[in-house]
Amino acid sequence: MSPLSSRDPATRGLGMTSQRARDRMIATLVEAGIRDARVLDVMRQLPRHLFIDEALASRAYENTALPIGQGQTISQPYIVARMTEALIEHALPRRVLEVGTGSGYQCAVLARLVEQVYTVERIEELLRNARRRFRKLGLANIRSRHDDGRLGWPDEAPFDAIIVTAAGAALEPGLLDQLVPTGCLVAPVGPPGRQELLRVRGGEEGWVSERLGAVSFVPLLGGTG
Ligand code: SAH
Repeated sequence: MSPLSSRDPATRGLGMTSQRARDRMIATLVEAGIRDARVLDVMRQLPRHLFIDEALASRAYENTALPIGQGQTISQPYIVARMTEALIEHALPRRVLEVGTGSGYQCAVLARLVEQVYTVERIEELLRNARRRFRKLGLANIRSRHDDGRLGWPDEAPFDAIIVTAAGAALEPGLLDQLVPTGCLVAPVGPPGRQELLRVRGGEEGWVSERLGAVSFVPLLGGTG
C-alpha cells in the first residue's frame, strides 16, 4: 500500500479534520468492536472530510452518517468499517464491485485494500463528485460507471466480492451470478426500519447466508437519475 500524499494541507486536515480527529474516530470504532487492523489503518489515513460538503467537514470524524446531497448519505464510519471487515474477513478479494458509489468514501477504503474496485452509481452528479475525489487522492485502481447497479457490471464480472451500500427489499438475485463460486457479497436488505446486513458466501454447499445485524440505509432504487 503506498502512503496517501499528505503534503496538501486540505488533504491532511486541520482542527476538527486533523489526524487527531481521525485517531479519535478510530478509537470509537475499536470500542464498537472493529478488530481488523487493515481496515482501521486505512480509515485512520483516509481523509473522510474530503468526501462531504465543506460546511459539514467539522463533523466528518463523528461516528455518524451525513448528507451528501440528492437525498443521499455517506454511511456511518462504523458501518463502512463493519462492511469492509465482513467483506475481507475470510479472504482478501482481488476485484470488488460496489453498488452505490455515493460520496465515494466506501469505495476509497476498498481501493486502499484490494487490487481493483468497480463502482456503480445511479445519480450522475454524485458520481461526478466522487470521481473528482478519487483523482485528488490519486486512487487509480477504481473504475466507475453511471448505471442502475442492481444489474451489477456484467462486462467486468465475475468479481471476488460485491458490496451493496443501499438497501433493497430482497437480495438482488442477479448479483450472485456476477460472483466467483467462492465469492462474498455484503448487502443491507429489508424495508426501512427492518433492514439487516447480510453476508452471502460461496462454498462447496453453494451460497450460505449470514445475518450480521440491524442497519439503516437509503433505498436501492431502480433506473438512473
Ligand atoms: N457507499 C456510499 C454510500 C452512499 S448511500 C458512500 O460511502 O458514501 C447509497 C448510494 O446508493 C446513493 O448514492 C444512491 O444514489 C445509490 N443507489 C441507490 N440505488 C442505486 C442503484 N440501483 N444503482 C446504483 N446506485 C444506487
